[in-house]
Amino acid sequence: MLKVIVIGGGAAGLMAGITAARQGASVVVMERMREAGKKMMITGKGRCNITNSCAVKEFIPNLPGNGKFLFSALQQFTNEDLLRFFRECGMETVTERGGRVFPASGKAKDVIITLLAALEKAGGRILTNAQATGFVVKPGKITGVRYRNVENDGRKDGQDFRSSTKGKIKLGPEHTLDADAVIVCTGGASYPGTGSDGNFVPVLENLGLAMEPLLPALVPLQPEEGFTEELDGLLLKNVKASVLSDGRPIAEEFGEMQFIRGGIAGPISLTMSRKVARLQYFNQPELELCIDLKPALPEDKLDTRITKDFQEFSKAKLKEIVRKLVPQPLVEPVLDGAFLDGNKPVSQVTKNDRQELIAILKHFTIPLTGTRPLAEAIVTAGGVSLKEIDPKTMAAKRIEGLYFAGEVMDVDGYTGGFNLQAAFSSGYVAGLHAAQPGLAR
Ligand SMILES: Cc1cc2nc3c(=O)[nH]c(=O)nc-3n(C[C@H](O)[C@H](O)[C@H](O)COP(=O)(O)OP(=O)(O)OC[C@H]3O[C@@H](n4cnc5c(N)ncnc54)[C@H](O)[C@@H]3O)c2cc1C
Repeated sequence: MLKVIVIGGGAAGLMAGITAARQGASVVVMERMREAGKKMMITGKGRCNITNSCAVKEFIPNLPGNGKFLFSALQQFTNEDLLRFFRECGMETVTERGGRVFPASGKAKDVIITLLAALEKAGGRILTNAQATGFVVKPGKITGVRYRNVENDGRKDGQDFRSSTKGKIKLGPEHTLDADAVIVCTGGASYPGTGSDGNFVPVLENLGLAMEPLLPALVPLQPEEGFTEELDGLLLKNVKASVLSDGRPIAEEFGEMQFIRGGIAGPISLTMSRKVARLQYFNQPELELCIDLKPALPEDKLDTRITKDFQEFSKAKLKEIVRKLVPQPLVEPVLDGAFLDGNKPVSQVTKNDRQELIAILKHFTIPLTGTRPLAEAIVTAGGVSLKEIDPKTMAAKRIEGLYFAGEVMDVDGYTGGFNLQAAFSSGYVAGLHAAQPGLAR
């Protein structure tokens, strides 16, 4: 019987283990945390958005980090295959706005319970508190895994698992396990308290594998200090925002954004963040976020609207008119940005003042230092370079017996269930081919 070791008990690892075990392999899924699926527990705000109901070809543009590489995997194990898998395992799902699919119970835990039960039923074993620390290698071939038991993961019972694992894990003596194939599913390096903290990257580098730098994707943007403190908590709906790099627009989105302590979150900021993180890492340009607070009104229409307000409320102060145009926390920043005195009666506002006001409403600009750190990202971009991996089997091209799946690879997607489907599809393909290395592609 072929022995398969899966390193990492997340979405990709559990699916890889189930698939390999269903093919008749003897499977051990090695997980460093006390329980598998810690990251899955916090996905979809605790509800786990397992996939998206869109057409399979729509997955590629929603995986801006090398989605094309997953074309074959997404065909071999589609979103419909995933839903059938869960249905056959007894877990019903619901589809919500934007095609987002969740377990019908609304509980991420049910996804993990279902996956663990399927692994057990297929004859696979899970070894928790076991951290892979290296490979047993024969020239050009992997023949086993070295691992250490985690004796203390640094948390007291009940402590929030989102706290970082860094430096807290205490490891026991080293053991080895033989394997005919090893599937690496160690995830990225964001939300390190879930166990995915990039600890396995040096092991992969030592093996001579090319790695792409680990960078945050889907992470809040970071404004320069002192620019947005008074806006903390403010939610902006229906705005158009663009990121400028050395004055040139490099991304533009329409929708919702939210100012949080030390960052700018919300869907449109998250979507633009992967480009910002790459620029910050590779080029260090001057970065700015430019928000059009009135995207539905072109400048001439906005001028007509403001002029009408001035006529209607001729005794009002300028700040009272601005309040009609933007939420209260933005009144002062908008007036300051236009160098206007909010206490000026509107009867004294000049045409030039009005033009300054329109300019700032259409181009409210915040200097950015880049993004919030990788630890706060929903997804990690970068990882094992895709030139090392056969997209049809997820096998390493240069090392026999080695496979990859999930976020450990240089693949990342937008929110909406695309990242978990990427993990499940690549996990399925890796499990299938690791258990049957001679399988026709
Ligand atoms: C807050 C948040 C919300 C999210 N929501 C969604 C969502 O709703 N839908 C969606 O599609 N995506 C979502 N994602 C992204 C999604 O969770 C990941 O893309 C996905 O979990 C990646 O799966 P994976 O199996 O590759 O890695 P992971 O789920 O990160 O699993 C990797 C596992 O490997 C283990 N491990 C690491 N190193 C070792 C080692 N040396 N030895 C043994 N074990 C090891 C880790 O402990 C971990 O359990 C979210 C992410 C976050 C942070």
